[in-house]
Amino acid sequence: MARICLCLTGKTLARDQEILEKYEKQVDMAELRVDCLDPDERFLIRRFPEMVKAPVILTIRRERDGGFFVGGEGARIILLSKGLAFAEADRRHNFAYVDLEEDLNVPSLEEAARTFGTRIIRSFHDYQGVEQNLAGRLRALRHGGDEIAKAAVMPRSMAEVIRVYEAARETRGLEKILLCMGDYGGNTRILAELLGSHLTYAAVKGEADMPPGAPGQLCPKELVDFYRFRTITPKTRIFGIVGFPLTATSSPAFFNTIFSQQNLDAVYIPFPSDSLEAFMRLADLIGLEGASVTIPYKEEILPYLKLRSEKVDFIKACNTILRRPGGWVGANTDALGFSDSLLNFIGAKNLKGKRVTIIGAGGVARAVAAEVYRLKGKALVLNRTLFRARDLAAPYRFAWSGLDGRGADLMSRYSDIIIQTTSVGMEPDVNADPLELYKFTGKEVVMDLIYKPETSHLLRRAAQAGCSIRNGYDMLIRQAQYQYTQFLGGDFPAQLMSRMII
Ligand code: NAP
Repeated sequence: MARICLCLTGKTLARDQEILEKYEKQVDMAELRVDCLDPDERFLIRRFPEMVKAPVILTIRRERDGGFFVGGEGARIILLSKGLAFAEADRRHNFAYVDLEEDLNVPSLEEAARTFGTRIIRSFHDYQGVEQNLAGRLRALRHGGDEIAKAAVMPRSMAEVIRVYEAARETRGLEKILLCMGDYGGNTRILAELLGSHLTYAAVKGEADMPPGAPGQLCPKELVDFYRFRTITPKTRIFGIVGFPLTATSSPAFFNTIFSQQNLDAVYIPFPSDSLEAFMRLADLIGLEGASVTIPYKEEILPYLKLRSEKVDFIKACNTILRRPGGWVGANTDALGFSDSLLNFIGAKNLKGKRVTIIGAGGVARAVAAEVYRLKGKALVLNRTLFRARDLAAPYRFAWSGLDGRGADLMSRYSDIIIQTTSVGMEPDVNADPLELYKFTGKEVVMDLIYKPETSHLLRRAAQAGCSIRNGYDMLIRQAQYQYTQFLGGDFPAQLMSRMII
């Protein structure tokens, strides 16, 4: 099984020891990043394996490989030999591994490592992307057959992440450590077992004096408790969410909590992806069973679907995909999630006699408009891009306008309920307000589908004017419950909800 290796980046050995003891139960081993130690401490590194119980990797990462070591190669080699020097104590007190870069050709170091029972990890780090022939490079990396090959690469796109999974497949049987750094690569850190990677690196979070060892490292708690890293095997069912940039999503918390509470051998992973096409190829490579689809892909996903639910056909937006033997099937759970939430909020069974303003004409606005129509409401659609407002409104004979002064004036006739569906005001841009020109009277019922932040700028303004307000969290949970049924069949286990904290 792939192990969890905690990257220790403290300034002193005592601090690294303290941190490792804190996480001892969650990790299998540690990497001592000598390059992060204070210069005086670096001469004492030989003691570290004796100070801790877990096996330790000795690493002195150069600045050009993403580390903090700025001295010359001579100084680095002397430090490495100091770390590998024979100790009077038995072999268990040696470093278990030493990380030597591909271009570091010092036979005496290799000999010392082999003599004193330290395994060599032969590594390369690429912050410029993922090369085409990653598998070839991995195979050629080792200076001796007993070494472990390691590639840590920084993909610039989802297409480059695919190369890493392909390289893993092509180098099956090779003892290796393989991972992607950065935002696109989080999935490779969680799915280390699938990649055949010897280990995954974890970072300490929330300790100001411990900088991350590399971009994108997850903390042990996230790996063990949240993604249940220890239970992931090739049989684990993989689900996820695709979107871009995918900065604010609570879906992984929702699904992983439910999977864990039900003891299901399944994991739900965020896949921030700059290309839907690349994500769909990755989905095939890793056997993804189903996914939530979010901004900006709810419409772009349609051509990939072999079969669409009636709602997807009607709304022309899809937020849920499921792998079936004949191809991908698309569903839309935003629609019922939204209308359940709105009706519950206003305490009604339908929208007869209600005049509604819909702000936005994107993927989720399509679901909102369809539901407002189905529930017999009359609506005005306002959107920044005029033709999209027109196209959304036309089939329902709704009014439409731009998100401008005229639109704000028209709202006075459609102000029983205001539904905000754009991404404006979402984290991190929390002070943005898509409806700056509109002054609330205090009589409107206002629903903003954004749930991060909890109260958007627009909702705060509405509340100050006396309106009743609701954010998108309740809708998120409701649509996720429908999504759960799509992914796994059967009813959502509602009794679990009360124990969930997202
Ligand atoms: P989308 O398809 O990308 O649509 C984005 C919408 O926002 C479009 O109407 C777009 O207008 C508008 N917009 C973007 N930037 C703007 C700006 N600077 N000024 C004015 N308008 C702007 O996204 P989506 O999937 O519909 O999602 C939209 C929001 O709904 C997100 O915040 C998402 O988190 C939220 N949402 C919540 C739930 C939930 O369960 N609570 C479910 C789904 C979505 P243009 O047409 O002019 O580009």
